[in-house]
Amino acid sequence: MSHLCFLCQRCSQPLKLNHTVEASQEPKALMFISAQGETRETQEGGPPSKEEANFENLQDGAFCRTPHPPSGGTSWDYSNFTLLGRLEPRRSLDSIQKTIRDSFDILSGETEVDHPLCVDCTDYLLEALDIELAITESDVQNYKCCLETREWVSEDERELLQRKLKGLELEEAKLHQEVAEVEKNQESVAADLEAAQAETKILEQQEKQYWKDYCKLKWQQLELNEELSSVEMRLRYAQIQWNKLEKTDIFNATFEIWHDGPLTIINNFRLGRIPTVPVCWSEINAAWGQTALLLLALANTIGLEFQRYRLIPCGNHSYLRSLTDDCAELPLYSGGEQNVFLHNKFDQAMMAFLDCMQQFKEAAEKDESGLYLPYKIHVKKGLMEDPGSSSGFYPIRTHLNTEEDWTKALKFMLINFKCSLTWVSLRYGRK
Ligand SMILES: [Zn+2]
Repeated sequence: MSHLCFLCQRCSQPLKLNHTVEASQEPKALMFISAQGETRETQEGGPPSKEEANFENLQDGAFCRTPHPPSGGTSWDYSNFTLLGRLEPRRSLDSIQKTIRDSFDILSGETEVDHPLCVDCTDYLLEALDIELAITESDVQNYKCCLETREWVSEDERELLQRKLKGLELEEAKLHQEVAEVEKNQESVAADLEAAQAETKILEQQEKQYWKDYCKLKWQQLELNEELSSVEMRLRYAQIQWNKLEKTDIFNATFEIWHDGPLTIINNFRLGRIPTVPVCWSEINAAWGQTALLLLALANTIGLEFQRYRLIPCGNHSYLRSLTDDCAELPLYSGGEQNVFLHNKFDQAMMAFLDCMQQFKEAAEKDESGLYLPYKIHVKKGLMEDPGSSSGFYPIRTHLNTEEDWTKALKFMLINFKCSLTWVSLRYGRK
């Protein structure tokens, strides 16, 4: 048995048919089956099936479709069919012709066809029609109202309104023209805008690059500023140092001479000894070394070259070299042992030193700002003379001499050197 049902034309859901009508109907439908479909008709004269009853419920000539075949079930062989009229047990030529005519009417759309709809879709359709009806009624009311108002308006008012309307129409035309112009302008403005946007893009890129460059330069500036302040600080420090050095006297700073009671001290080394203060000989030798260096520095400052001797300062082993006596070395240092001979070499060295000092004094005295030394030097006898004292001769040698007198002679000698330092500083130090 084939199963046939109808679909709603709106929602395509299968229709539920009214079964109460079913029983009282007879099979009268005829199906036009598509060319490929297999014809499935009710048996003529047989008892009416369910499907045949369904056909009865519909008007003649209604379209229907078969539902989609259930998946996995038997396939439907036909696809579409059309109800064309009542099925007569024995059909006459007239009935066949009528059927054909009806078919053509349906196909040409001349006959109204009732499309089957489900209950929900019918309700929806009715509601929509109601709404449309209400709107139409409201429109009608509005039109009526307008007509009534028109009747109430006087002739003058109508003219006024007409003029107003004309003015408004003119204004509308003008506005239309303006709109056209604006539209025309819009194109050029759009082109301008596009160009401006492109320019903006380029300018933004340039700005970006400028910022990059600016940051780079700013960084360099910071670095250079830092360097500049560092250099300025160093310059200020150098300036301070320079000022300090300018005020510093090189001779007085290098050679410090002062006295501590009977002993005189040069650069922290005591020169001389007395029984109460037995200064060790290495200190005395070092003091002699400093004194030799001082005399050489003084001589070099005024451009003096010693005659007869060459002074070689060498710490606590300084000496003089005789330029006449086969280059004999005269040591300006001693171990402290007293030599009984008249001409021991340490004494000879000290007397030679006095000779050199006298040469310096004589050279310095020739200068216009002449040097004045408080203590006289007697080179040949090797004496230092104190002009303020009656018995003021003090030998520089150690042989046949007391430690006190020897120390005093050394003291006078260093005082003379101190005066020489002051003179040299004033004369040459500030140049
Ligand atoms: Zn429906």
